[in-house]
Amino acid sequence: MADKYDVIVIGAGPGGMTAALYASRANLKVAMLDRGVYGGQMNNTAEVENYTGFKSILGPDLAEQMYQSAIQFGADFVYGNVEKVTVDEDGIKHVKTDSGELEAPAIVIATGSQYRKLGIPGEDEYSGKGVSYCAVCDGAFYRGKDVTTVGGGDSAVEESEYLAKLVNNVNIVHRRDQLRAQKILQDRAFSNDKINFTWNTIVTEIVGDGKKVTGVKTHNKETNEDRLVPTDGVFIYIGNVPMTEPFKALGITDEQGWVITDDEMKTSVPGVFAVGDVRDKKLRQITTAVGDGGIAGQGVFSYIESLKD
Ligand code: FAD
Ligand code: NAP
Repeated sequence: MADKYDVIVIGAGPGGMTAALYASRANLKVAMLDRGVYGGQMNNTAEVENYTGFKSILGPDLAEQMYQSAIQFGADFVYGNVEKVTVDEDGIKHVKTDSGELEAPAIVIATGSQYRKLGIPGEDEYSGKGVSYCAVCDGAFYRGKDVTTVGGGDSAVEESEYLAKLVNNVNIVHRRDQLRAQKILQDRAFSNDKINFTWNTIVTEIVGDGKKVTGVKTHNKETNEDRLVPTDGVFIYIGNVPMTEPFKALGITDEQGWVITDDEMKTSVPGVFAVGDVRDKKLRQITTAVGDGGIAGQGVFSYIESLKD
């Protein structure tokens, strides 16, 4: 027998937690599902400096505060990896997880995105042995050492700044001669003595001694120069891919897998909402995920009410 709810929120990042807060505050029976610890990407973020109300707050601390707020009106936190979602002829959504099944007339997809891999030799082999996608998780292993960051967006630059507080030197390798990161992050990185940049360059291989990373092979696209650069660790921040595999059959994603919604967070399937980074949108931030979550939580209430008519 499936557990029955009014709404199942899939993903307990800032978007999902806010949708759960609004829906449970409207007296709906809410399940908030996650396959990991609540908080989503905030758990991988050192300092959050652009969330209104806090001059600066550690990502995991913000995650904890949001969770306490999200469950205060009775939302259940359910642990499980969502494998598939189907909709039956009565419009009921069936959410199959690795630990059971839940059903509800409405769902909110809040599964966010996950790091993109470089797909080069050595990346998988040395993952956890010098290759990392999370400075907050692994940065402390590199105290006093030299590390390489790959990418030119907000994540690469902001997390390099965090790493620079721990390590001897951070070398940011970027494939162009301009960063994509916000201006304030760029300015701080350019003025940080521990951060240097290698422009117009791609990493072609991560090399090591079998046990740990010892260097990266690089190719300069302007000069065609190939180099072997010694490094103790490689932090990869080259963007994200949407976590939408379980929803593919619903036909609500674009060709890259991002969920398409209107500005009420509704997808083309009645009773299926989506919020946060998983959406096709311009600005992927905590504050926009939270905004989406509020709109969807309220929208779910209206949808459930409309079913009573
Ligand atoms: P997420 O936070 O990604 O949460 C999604 C949740 O869904 C996860 O907990 C995941 O476990 C769960 N999930 C996924 N698939 C499944 C499944 N099949 N079954 C069950 N659960 C599933 N933004 C800022 O505003 N300020 C910052 O300083 C900042 N720093 C950042 C630093 C880094 C390194 C990164 C990567 C991002 C940063 N961001 C920052 C962006 C911000 O973290 C995201 O925009 C925000 O977390 C998106 O929230 P979300 O709720 O949409 O998804
Ligand atoms: P992003 O903005 O997509 O940037 C990815 C970077 O990696 C780009 O510089 C890109 O180069 C580069 N890249 C992509 N594929 C590559 C490849 N195969 N090889 C080498 N380089 C590659 O991703 P992000 O920085 O992770 O940010 C994701 C989202 O989270 C964004 O919306 C961002 O604003 C948000 N975020 C916000 C904050 C904050 O507000 N403080 C912090 C972190 C993240 P090009 O520039 O050439 O395309």
